[in-house]
Amino acid sequence: MNRYLHLVKPGTLFDDRHVTRASEMLQAWNGKEKVEGYAVVGVPLSKSSISHSGASFAPGTIRRAFSSYTTYSIEKDYDLIGTKLHDFGDIRIHVTDIAASQERVYDMVSAILTDHKVFPIILGGDNSITFPNVKAFAETKGKVGIIQFDAHHDVRNLVDGGPSNGTPFRSLLENKIIDGENLVQIGIRNFSNSKAYRDYVSEHSAHVFTMKDVREQGIVSILQEVIADLAKRVDAIYVSLDMDVVDQAFAPGCPAIGPGGMNTDTLFDAFDFLGRQPLVQGFEVVEIDPTVDFRDMTSRLAAYTILTLLAGKNYV
Ligand code: CA
Repeated sequence: MNRYLHLVKPGTLFDDRHVTRASEMLQAWNGKEKVEGYAVVGVPLSKSSISHSGASFAPGTIRRAFSSYTTYSIEKDYDLIGTKLHDFGDIRIHVTDIAASQERVYDMVSAILTDHKVFPIILGGDNSITFPNVKAFAETKGKVGIIQFDAHHDVRNLVDGGPSNGTPFRSLLENKIIDGENLVQIGIRNFSNSKAYRDYVSEHSAHVFTMKDVREQGIVSILQEVIADLAKRVDAIYVSLDMDVVDQAFAPGCPAIGPGGMNTDTLFDAFDFLGRQPLVQGFEVVEIDPTVDFRDMTSRLAAYTILTLLAGKNYV
């Protein structure tokens, strides 16, 4: 009989020895060991947002949200219990200089991907971090395709406002880090974009699936088509999830909320499918502002989506 049966780790309320919390998968990287598997890194940058954003707080709330879930997928009868998420911590952001911050993001993501054999799970931050993230990802992976879940094209011109959370995909195209034909935008929404930027994306031969396409064709059918097409040209696929692709009813904690977005069932079907694709080798979630969220609903949605991706990946 264990005399210390009822001593638990501090903060472990209502601990039950038969329940493993998903937060236990997160294990702090020791600063030197070469690791394999999954790497989590937070990018608390949101000063680059066009509108007011507290997305810099999201890496913390998303990590904490993992404690809301267990490691067990009942739908697959699969337990993620042995899956380690090596947590590299957060990238130090420059207090005032956005370009310097982006450079640090590029340097750190690049170091993680070069020194370790890992699938990056990057917690933003706003959508501006996509540019340094993908730049680093592309340099280590070769020809890269992007599947972008977003309400917006994010190809604003760089002359009016400089690099921001409205410009990352334009920067990637214009710096030739990705080819337009290998950019797939899914969930682009009515009354949230302009014709000029729709035309810009088409001129670059990027693929656009609006929310109407998602409703009518179905997300898995779209992704099957997309993966089959990208597989002809790319070495790896990076999945970018701007949480504002999800309807405001499910994701109230985004700076740009709105109706007509994706529901969570559709999102999870997408990430379960993507988890099974060997070409999918990197992931980021951006645009969650915990300061305007309700009970961390949107951060919890991010954690649940990551678990869905991981369980999908391990599907047998
Ligand atoms: Ca976006």
